[in-house]
Amino acid sequence: MRLNIPNQHIDMPLLRQKGIGLYLKREDTIHPFISGNKYRKLKYNLLEAKKQGKNTLLTFGGAFSNHIAAAAFAGHKEGLKTIGVIRGEELVDKWQNNPTLQLAHEHGMQFHFVSRSEYRLKNEPSFLQNLKGRYGDFYLLPEGGTNSLAVKGCAEILTEDDMLFDYICSAVGTGGTMAGLINASQPDQTVFGFPALKGDFLTQEIGAFVNNDRWRLVTDYHFGGYAKVDEHLIAFINLFKAKTGIPLDPIYTGKMLFGIFDLVKQDVFEPGTQILAIHTGGLQGIKGMNLVLKKKNLPLLDV
Ligand SMILES: *Cc1c(COP(=O)(O)O)cnc(C)c1O
Repeated sequence: MRLNIPNQHIDMPLLRQKGIGLYLKREDTIHPFISGNKYRKLKYNLLEAKKQGKNTLLTFGGAFSNHIAAAAFAGHKEGLKTIGVIRGEELVDKWQNNPTLQLAHEHGMQFHFVSRSEYRLKNEPSFLQNLKGRYGDFYLLPEGGTNSLAVKGCAEILTEDDMLFDYICSAVGTGGTMAGLINASQPDQTVFGFPALKGDFLTQEIGAFVNNDRWRLVTDYHFGGYAKVDEHLIAFINLFKAKTGIPLDPIYTGKMLFGIFDLVKQDVFEPGTQILAIHTGGLQGIKGMNLVLKKKNLPLLDV
């Protein structure tokens, strides 16, 4: 299936004033639960799992993981059993309060909760062997769903119409989505990635998947780390929604667009520059984030 995802023009005073053309590729419209990029990342992996005759998918993630939600949904749809190895053993008797895990459970995912130290061993052969002993044979999807088949799927985000842009921007978690964009970019394009977490490992991870060096990580907009937010970010996301009607998620796309606007303010882009930013989705995470914000007495995200 070829998806035809529209690029939506973003009209805001700052952009007009600086002569910057900003468009948002609405990959968030692919599916209400599955983040657009997670759908792309699963596509070839699901085909491969079937080809290998596997009837179970096993993967890893944290309590807010869009990948966990997407894997559960896709497995359910394709008739595959799903097992989620979830970081945080304290969740074992309270995952019902977490909207992401609730959604995954509704789609049949079975959870295996592990401590943070155990979670760090997730790539060790003995850890995986142990899981096989317990759950039988499975098709393994890495954390965040990133592998070479996922990168291949994400290269399909860009189409011929996107060749006229000077910059392609994406939020970065594990880097698989950005790697696909880099491989699909044109020789006169630059790909900017905005990591949603503090992570020096990303340059190396992404480098392993790509065939050119027309890319850069913009590391100033993680807001303290994965799923960390502050009132400035919340205010920006709410303002953006009020002005454009487009919802952004607080973990990935909100941070990326905050970063793009900040770079525009700093005149990093020359007047006349055309930017395509990818709205990767992640909107299922807003509900869970608002529960956290409420507890901390911070302003909530408008929904
Ligand atoms: C997972 C995710 C990303 C990051 O994708 P990676 O390929 O892991 O870098 C970006 N945006 C959203 C909404 C996501 O769910």
